[in-house]
Amino acid sequence: MSATTSARQEVILKIASNGKIPFKNSTKDVASDFGVNTFNDKVMREYLPKDAYIQLRRTIRKGEKLDINIANTVAHAMKEWAISKGVSHFTHWFQPQTGLTAEKHDAFLEVDDGQVVERFRGSQLVQGEPDASSFPSGGSRTTFEARGYTMWDPSSPAFIMEGPNGGILCIPSVFISYTGEALDKKTPLLRSMDAISKSALRVLRLFGNKSVYRIIITIGTEQEYFLIDKSFFSLRPDLQLTGRTLLGAPSPKGQQLDDHYFGSIKERVLAFMQDAEHELYKLSVPAKTRHNEVAPHQFELAPIFDEANVGADRNQITMEVLKKVANRHALALLLHEKPFAGINGSGKHNNWSIADSDGNNLLDPGKTPEENLQFLLFLVATLKAVHTHGSLLRMSIASAGNDHRLGANEAPPAIISVFLGERLTTILNDIRDDKTTKSAEEYIIDLGLSKLPLIFRDNTDRNRTSPFAFTGQRFEFRALGSASSVSLANTVLSGAVAESLDLIMDEIEGKMSQKNADMNDVVLSTLKKYITETDNIRYEGNNYSTEWEEEAKKRGLPNIKKTGYALDAIIDPHSIKMFKLQNIFSETEIYGRYNTKLEQYITNLEIEAETLIDLLNTRVIPPALSFQSQLLSAISAAITMDDAALDGAVDTEKELLKEIAAGIMGIRRGIKELESKLKEAEGIDDLPQKAKFFSDNIAELIESIRIPSDNLEKIIPDDLWTLPKYSEMLFIM
Ligand code: ADP
Ligand code: MG
Repeated sequence: MSATTSARQEVILKIASNGKIPFKNSTKDVASDFGVNTFNDKVMREYLPKDAYIQLRRTIRKGEKLDINIANTVAHAMKEWAISKGVSHFTHWFQPQTGLTAEKHDAFLEVDDGQVVERFRGSQLVQGEPDASSFPSGGSRTTFEARGYTMWDPSSPAFIMEGPNGGILCIPSVFISYTGEALDKKTPLLRSMDAISKSALRVLRLFGNKSVYRIIITIGTEQEYFLIDKSFFSLRPDLQLTGRTLLGAPSPKGQQLDDHYFGSIKERVLAFMQDAEHELYKLSVPAKTRHNEVAPHQFELAPIFDEANVGADRNQITMEVLKKVANRHALALLLHEKPFAGINGSGKHNNWSIADSDGNNLLDPGKTPEENLQFLLFLVATLKAVHTHGSLLRMSIASAGNDHRLGANEAPPAIISVFLGERLTTILNDIRDDKTTKSAEEYIIDLGLSKLPLIFRDNTDRNRTSPFAFTGQRFEFRALGSASSVSLANTVLSGAVAESLDLIMDEIEGKMSQKNADMNDVVLSTLKKYITETDNIRYEGNNYSTEWEEEAKKRGLPNIKKTGYALDAIIDPHSIKMFKLQNIFSETEIYGRYNTKLEQYITNLEIEAETLIDLLNTRVIPPALSFQSQLLSAISAAITMDDAALDGAVDTEKELLKEIAAGIMGIRRGIKELESKLKEAEGIDDLPQKAKFFSDNIAELIESIRIPSDNLEKIIPDDLWTLPKYSEMLFIM
């Protein structure tokens, strides 16, 4: 080993020799371990008296209020169960607007007449009061009334998060202000689920269904992530502080060969996955599918779908557990949407469907024409929702990180359109055009009066480029970022569909009240109107292409590329109207969210800018200067020799010297420009305007400044360069 081996190079050698994780307990009993750390139905039956069990089930299923006596019984049972598993503390586990989850631990411990006892009361289970004044509320709370409450959400099972010295009993909760405003991401999601349930029940009643009492939203979230060796991570302040690399020359080998996608999984990664999945199973997270993704060291985990609020909780749990287990394996798990420039980023496909309380999927075409018509109604209502609220859906997935993916030939563009597949497209077009020809036989569809289309589930053609695709019996909203909570996207989607169901049902019910109205005709003619109206958001082609961008422009579809602009959709009058009518957000809550999101976006970019300046000053310029002085010594040595035979001997050094000097100058110029823009931004008081300033100026600058640095990385001697390189982080494990 040369005396000049850098810390970075030593890390690489270390990974090669001891970065492997030995195989251990490879036989894990999934069936018997599944859910052992959740307060699930089996545990409830075991620990609760029968009447309490029945009452709690009713609360969970139908949302009935829980009596305080029952709450006491449930709390006691939960505590007994938790203590039997070595747990001493509980926490209300909730999702503030940071996108993370929050907890404040309390011991069961109480002192009673000088005696220490472990106790957990119903009132503690039902309500908590974290000193929560520091959570973002976007100005919807002033500090004197900053009190926030967490309230138990019985619809999502309590669970034990294991730790090295015993676990914590986590009680899924909502987080609201003293005045009842939602301060978290779960409350609006639950409200949107109520909204769509109400609206969808109208449809089921229309079709004569009297038994179904509730409609639920189901979601399945496919989670993408990167894994790199932990030692690399610890040498990259940008990954630690911003979640992504702000610098880094491209690796000669990237993803061009597509040799990672669905490739065999490396042993070290497989060991991590198996461990992580086992942890998830214990928490009742039904992790089902795992595979390599397109980029090197990129992977995906998909669970079996759940009811939306439970699915959203479980996605948060999944992200936490993946990170925790990766750490145990000396790996760093990256959830950022674009950890490496020039390499595919990570997303989160959100599979979304509607089901009734009997478990029937309402987006699954049925067997009879009536079922088909009902299916079509839900389908068209979803089209209408996306048509009216495309920009709002775009808003719901907006973040500084996701801006790097959308429209970058790896993820759906910022234009929201819907893919339906060939058969459904034909059927909808036929309804729109009053056609009963040709396709009639092919699709067994006859649209003559009262003749209803027969639709078969279409699994054949899949379009992977559409942001919103119908995939057989569900919609797949594909534009979500990998790091974000799925709550807002599902809140917006469910609320928007609830609104269009109401719109369609109002119209149908109006027409039905007329004499001699035939229900099938009324429904079909109403759907026809909305199919025609929403024509321009249907797109079956390649959404990554430039033709689509041009075509979308002609169709008048918005293409909002930057978060600073995308966020405005939340305060659009159409959005406010929908949120208020569907009881999802009050106006105060909307503006609270808006301000919080703007602030978060700005702060994110500020942190990136500061981190970048720091890295350039302390990690890039110094090695460049060192190399420069090496070159200068060589050149001046050659000059002092004053030997004609040495003519031209240091030409290479001279050339390199110029390149280095130009690179350093470029970086210095960039830093100054960035600093002056940051200063300029400080003077902007109006938050929306400030966010736009960041989108237009600072986001771009952060990307352009790295160019001279990445060029320097390619010519500076390896032993002088301290930051782990792309070719190392993405290929050495
Ligand atoms: P693909 O890679 O084709 O998108 P995956 O199998 O990776 O498919 O993921 C499909 C996801 O869709 C899974 O999480 C699955 O549970 C979910 N899913 C299936 N049916 C429904 C449904 N009715 N509602 C919500 N999600 C669903
Ligand atoms: Mg998918």
